[in-house]
Amino acid sequence: MSNITIAIDGYSSCGKSTIAKALAARLNYAYIDSGAMYRCVTLFCMRKGLIKKKKFIAEEIIACLPEIHLSFQFNPFTKTSETYMNGENVEKEIRSMEIAENVSKISTIKEVREHMVAIQREFGVNKGVVMDGRDIGSHVFPDAELKLFMTADIETRVNRRLDELNSKGEHVEFDEVKQNLQQRDYDDTRRKESPLTRAKDAIVLDNTDLSKEEQLEYVIKLINDSLLTRD
Ligand code: C5P
Repeated sequence: MSNITIAIDGYSSCGKSTIAKALAARLNYAYIDSGAMYRCVTLFCMRKGLIKKKKFIAEEIIACLPEIHLSFQFNPFTKTSETYMNGENVEKEIRSMEIAENVSKISTIKEVREHMVAIQREFGVNKGVVMDGRDIGSHVFPDAELKLFMTADIETRVNRRLDELNSKGEHVEFDEVKQNLQQRDYDDTRRKESPLTRAKDAIVLDNTDLSKEEQLEYVIKLINDSLLTRD
């Protein structure tokens, strides 16, 4: 069975990375979290003091891009792929609320997107990759063999995000998380450069009432059915 490319897009905190990781583990594929890449750019620039009170000068952010080296490494203990920036494991730091509050604005910068997309395409050059994000099926890999567009109701998404933040020791109110998710969705769907949109050939997966196992089995069936049709 030849390797394929799997593109997973959707709104914030829809469980994209959960299904992407499970699929990558089941298929022995690489998992690339494209959102982590935008979060790293944000973290790097925040550490440099270039983002203050959600304000920044785009040219200063663009000038940093050559200094940011990103990689993903599988951690055998947590059994997930973790994000490294310039050799440092930043997996925990990039998930903070502070990063979440700035990342969507940074992601609107055309040059940032072009730089990230070029790296993402390199990661996927040999197929056998599951990548999640906002523009993967519509822009990064328009020829991906399987495209999913994930959605879930807002309360479910907020609760999932709260659980994630709480498990990392960050205590945030429901309304703050809700407002952040809605603002990011707004920014992501309305930006000029490759906005979040469902690719015409993407399959919509609303996982509000589905367990992780049900989602995984559903997608594995989709892959097997599409392979049968193609072979
Ligand atoms: O997926 P995650 O929530 O970690 O992504 C963080 C942010 O990065 C998103 O809110 C979005 O603004 C941006 N992003 C993007 N394009 C992608 C992935 C993420 O613009 N392919």
